[in-house]
Amino acid sequence: MRILITGAAGFLGSHLCDKLLDEGHSVVGMDNFITGNPDNLAHLAGHERFSFIRHDVSNFIFVPGKLDAVLHFASPASPNPNSPYGYVNLPIQTMKAGALGTHNTLGVARAHDARFMLASTSEIYGDPLEHPQKESYWGHVNPIGLRSVYDEAKRFAEALTMAYHRFHGINTCIVRIFNTYGPRMRIDDGRVVPNFLSQGLKGERLSIFGDGSQTRSFCYVDDLINGIYKLLISSIHDPVNIGNPSEISILEFAKIINRLTSNNAGYELKPQQRGEGDPQRRRPDISRAREILNWEPEIDVEDGLEKTIPYFKEKLGIP
Ligand code: NAD
Ligand code: UDP
Repeated sequence: MRILITGAAGFLGSHLCDKLLDEGHSVVGMDNFITGNPDNLAHLAGHERFSFIRHDVSNFIFVPGKLDAVLHFASPASPNPNSPYGYVNLPIQTMKAGALGTHNTLGVARAHDARFMLASTSEIYGDPLEHPQKESYWGHVNPIGLRSVYDEAKRFAEALTMAYHRFHGINTCIVRIFNTYGPRMRIDDGRVVPNFLSQGLKGERLSIFGDGSQTRSFCYVDDLINGIYKLLISSIHDPVNIGNPSEISILEFAKIINRLTSNNAGYELKPQQRGEGDPQRRRPDISRAREILNWEPEIDVEDGLEKTIPYFKEKLGIP
């Protein structure tokens, strides 16, 4: 296949490029570097099956040549208001990437009669009232909350994707991605894994927002990418949760990171920086992915963090 990936210079997009090239496909990467980093693609320079277009997906997209699949991953993704890369500080760009970017990439898929994949998110469930979250859950999102620029853009994007599927017969799929971590995450995007790992490696106290009782379920990037690939080559149109169902409190997570980074500084409880709406619990129900994709994650959180630490050490200049 010849495949367009938007958000290619980001954390997940760059790993997807690698996976698709490894599987023998040709990849056209697209990114405007608003939160991504060209370094994430540097190793692909000169690759005969890889090309790159610098472009903002909010504007009309033209890709010469045939395309068999379009993967729309371009969007700011960190909720941290203290980072310049957090979507709270890029609100209009985030809504445009989710709304106009999805419209434009669906248009590309339609023009090429290509399979389309939307990178959606567990955030469409909001601060969930159902636990764990199944694909059938409609969510609990504040339409004017701080996170709404991301959540509502992704909900709109899902609705538009289904409209193109139902009305135009486009071969679409939707992956609802839960918290994923690994090498190539931006160290300063403010998400909990880069924050905790860099604090731990520098011997600083880990910044826990709130009392640390909120939970997340962390998936290592290789597991996620394998699930995404299985979904891409399937004929499924309904949304599929991809994530690791192993749930952990942020306090427990901080303790693991302090142990793995040999950090004796401990942690500090800080006021919740995210305002209302920081989801209190999050865990994917992955029954659908297990049944129809025969997929489940294989890497537990300690092994995944061990694989991630060398990348953050390198970024911090720690031997
Ligand atoms: P990231 O910030 O590392 O990557 C996003 C990429 O999109 C960046 O390279 C950025 O420059 C690019 N981009 C943003 N707006 C653009 C635009 N208008 N035009 C062109 N490029 C643009 O984030 P990520 O973690 O790799 O997330 C990738 C996708 O997966 C996003 O759509 C995100 O919503 C989704 N997702 C990620 C997670 C996760 O845990 N990492 C969870 C749920 C959903
Ligand atoms: N968090 C934290 N300290 C940090 C960064 C994040 O305690 O330095 C918390 C945050 O409040 C949230 C959880 O960790 O409850 C996960 O945050 P992340 O930014 O990774 O993404 P989210 O899952 O909220 O989208």
